Amino acid sequence: MNINIISAKSILTKSNLPVSDYSANPYTGCAHACKYCYASFMKRFTNHQDEWGSFVDVKTWPCIKHTEKYSGKEIFLSSVTDPYQPAEEIHKRTRYLLEQLQGSGARLSIATKSDLVLRDIDLIKTFPNARVSWSINTLDEEFRSEMDNAVSIERRLSAMKAFHDAGIRTTCFISPIFPGITDVPAIIERAMNICNLVWLENLNLRGEYRKRILDWIHEKHPELDSLYHEIYSCRERTYWYELDELIRQFTDEHSLPYVRNDDSMTREFNAPPVVVNYFFHEEITR
Ligand code: SF4
Repeated sequence: MNINIISAKSILTKSNLPVSDYSANPYTGCAHACKYCYASFMKRFTNHQDEWGSFVDVKTWPCIKHTEKYSGKEIFLSSVTDPYQPAEEIHKRTRYLLEQLQGSGARLSIATKSDLVLRDIDLIKTFPNARVSWSINTLDEEFRSEMDNAVSIERRLSAMKAFHDAGIRTTCFISPIFPGITDVPAIIERAMNICNLVWLENLNLRGEYRKRILDWIHEKHPELDSLYHEIYSCRERTYWYELDELIRQFTDEHSLPYVRNDDSMTREFNAPPVVVNYFFHEEITR
């Protein structure tokens, strides 16, 4: 792993994401090296020639001033890296950021594929309305280990349970959903008693990872070639509409709200999780 220390002008960036006000990326690059990582485009902006997943820039930044201006604002960690990737164990940049923001009144939204976040549970608890999400798009460890270098699914689920038990809102982020591979109902069943929100996102294939994924499907699952061709070359959406219907039936049977807009923060902590369909963002409606 190629690790560099770099200095950034600032660490908090106004966010264009629909779900947060600011984003913070304490690292550039990500050792989790997911095959489908959309953030790999960051290479272009940072002059890295090496493969995505083989470098991590560890950021330093000036002291954050007037932290009270972030009161009530949601800060998302992180949009183009994993804030709890292995480098965090040594460099503790995410922890440092949380320490800087402690007491500001900012709301935290953390997304990870790691259980290192457990280290900071006491610190995270001090933020109002914090929530932590784990990406889980399979229960099959073999597929998981082909797709990413992060911790096992069982470790992610254990971390989710620990946070939920501690009264911190958790999200099971079922993303990206691989057609013909991701078993969405099975994942919801595993997570539904330890999360407040299930967020569903379909696999998009664009940029440099499109070919990588299609080649992988062809090599490991040639029986899915025609399905992927229909979806990703012919832009056929039947698969997603059928999956939408399947999830609707499943959520009805389990009395889970199935919606297009997340309102989980205003629900009782112990209420069943809200399942949010984020397929194609606004195109499939109930
Ligand atoms: S954990 Fe996230 S940022 Fe890191 S490689 Fe995977 S998808 Fe990309």
